[in-house]
Amino acid sequence: MSRARIFRGIGASPGVALGRVFILDRRSVRVRRYHVRPDQIDYEIDRLQTAINKSVEQLESIRGNFVGDGHDHQSILEAHGMMLRDHALFAEATDLIRNDLLNAEWAIRRVISRLRALFDKVSDSYFKERRGDIDFVGDRILRNLVGQVADIADIDMLDDGTVVVAHDLSPVDAALLSRQRVTAFVTEIGGKTSHTSIVARSLEVPAVVGVKGILDSAGSGDGIVVDGLDGTVMLRPSRAQLDRGRIRSDLYHQASLEMLEAKALPARTLDGYDVTVAGNIELPTEITNVLNRGGEAIGLYRTEFLFLGRSIPPGEEDHYRTYCHLFDEVGGRQVTVRTLDLGGEKIFGPMVAELEPNPALGLRAIRYCLRNPEVFEAQISGLLRAAVHGNLRIMLPMISCITEFRQALAFIDEVKEKLQRDGREFDHDVPVGIMIEVPSAVMTADILAREAAFFSIGTNDLLQYLLAIDRTNERVNYLYNPLQPAVLRTLRMITEAAANAKIPVSVCGEMAGQVTHVPIFLALGIQQLSMNAGSIPRLKRMVRELRRDECQALLLDALQCETFTEVGDMVRQFVHAKTSFTSSMLRQDSQ
Ligand code: PEP
Ligand code: MG
Repeated sequence: MSRARIFRGIGASPGVALGRVFILDRRSVRVRRYHVRPDQIDYEIDRLQTAINKSVEQLESIRGNFVGDGHDHQSILEAHGMMLRDHALFAEATDLIRNDLLNAEWAIRRVISRLRALFDKVSDSYFKERRGDIDFVGDRILRNLVGQVADIADIDMLDDGTVVVAHDLSPVDAALLSRQRVTAFVTEIGGKTSHTSIVARSLEVPAVVGVKGILDSAGSGDGIVVDGLDGTVMLRPSRAQLDRGRIRSDLYHQASLEMLEAKALPARTLDGYDVTVAGNIELPTEITNVLNRGGEAIGLYRTEFLFLGRSIPPGEEDHYRTYCHLFDEVGGRQVTVRTLDLGGEKIFGPMVAELEPNPALGLRAIRYCLRNPEVFEAQISGLLRAAVHGNLRIMLPMISCITEFRQALAFIDEVKEKLQRDGREFDHDVPVGIMIEVPSAVMTADILAREAAFFSIGTNDLLQYLLAIDRTNERVNYLYNPLQPAVLRTLRMITEAAANAKIPVSVCGEMAGQVTHVPIFLALGIQQLSMNAGSIPRLKRMVRELRRDECQALLLDALQCETFTEVGDMVRQFVHAKTSFTSSMLRQDSQ
């Protein structure tokens, strides 16, 4: 048995889990290359044919269901299907099996390499990009040859105590895995605000991301302790390490239970300032978690997760029914539904990532919706109709300038006119607000505030764009710090613009759920903080232990600081002096 090893990464979701490793290796398949005997030729050709047929079927089933707008991904899937069915591919690989006695994997890999080299030589950039398609097709055939799952939905039910260890998980992978009994996640790449981390937090399972090299050492079935509090992972732990892990896990559960006891008390400061503490959800099933932990509203419903596991975009009725169900569950509380934030790192179902050379700066969120009016219209109609049954606010993501916002408002007006013409019942006055997550929106916040019903600050993206750090890249994660002086100044600009225009401001990025930042938010006059359900009780308690006037004095001092270390020290000292939160309680969010 190999020795115990400790890895360090980024604590992405709090808690400590003990379990067994399940390797989910979605990197390129490693295949064995060997020569076959002449009497094995037919068998090998048969294997190849079966793998190709299976690949064609898989693509058909993805594509067959998908009849949305997506001309681009439709045509890409179609192109992949054509490559697979192309007899030349099969014939060339068969020749290699027959004449050079290569096994099927080796033969197909050689054909794919030759094709790739051919595409490389072409100077036309369109053809160069198609090189990725060849790899995709080759990868699918190889996975089918070696019997490795190509899509996460194909995994059988996992056992209790399973810790998924992967190079990377897309948001879809993470959410699909959430239907399984996963005890913790560990990934080699990713940052605190990447979607794997967000999903792990909302599922309340511990996660550590950015754990370099773990796949080289871990094997399925190995024992593992995942400490999401301090970002460590112990592989094949000793008995003493296991005992320590168990104690830390119990202490964490104990502390969480204590916080829960006071969950129903309002988040009111000692000097009488009220903050609404709301929950972020990806799936309607998470509402119960939010309400059970004392959440007073839904501050962010990430509706792009409606695409999960579907191969056709949701239609108007899907939207309508989902939102009506939501209103039933929340019983009159306010629900802020964010319109589809597709694209960027949130690639779902039939969307094809390779189409975007720079996804975070590409056709995502409101840009995607305005370019795909039928997808957007289905959602807006569903929302306006459902709003009759609840307390809804519509929130538009990634607005970067007033022109874009006005375009979206005009679109919403057109949908209203259509509903009116068709004699359908809908709410004419749903407030429409925007997420502030692009620096250009900050710089023009005064202009936007005149027409927006509210602002909600999406700090995950705002920090990404403001500090130029890819939110999914663990190598630049050290710069991700919400207490950067640049972030404080930015937040102040936003809240000042909102106060002047007398519109409410919320924060719904991950920063909102971190107790250390509460004094800053109170000082800035944020009215609503929206976060993963697990953070709600401790955040409410932090608000209750502070005075807003003292926080305002702190902010004035913090704004004089030059570095995030100075700001961090100042805020932590303040919190220690004023509240009952201990260092280890603060560490849960200071990773
Ligand atoms: C954000 O960017 O802060 C946010 C809340 O949206 P998302 O994390 O879904 O991009
Ligand atoms: Mg965002």
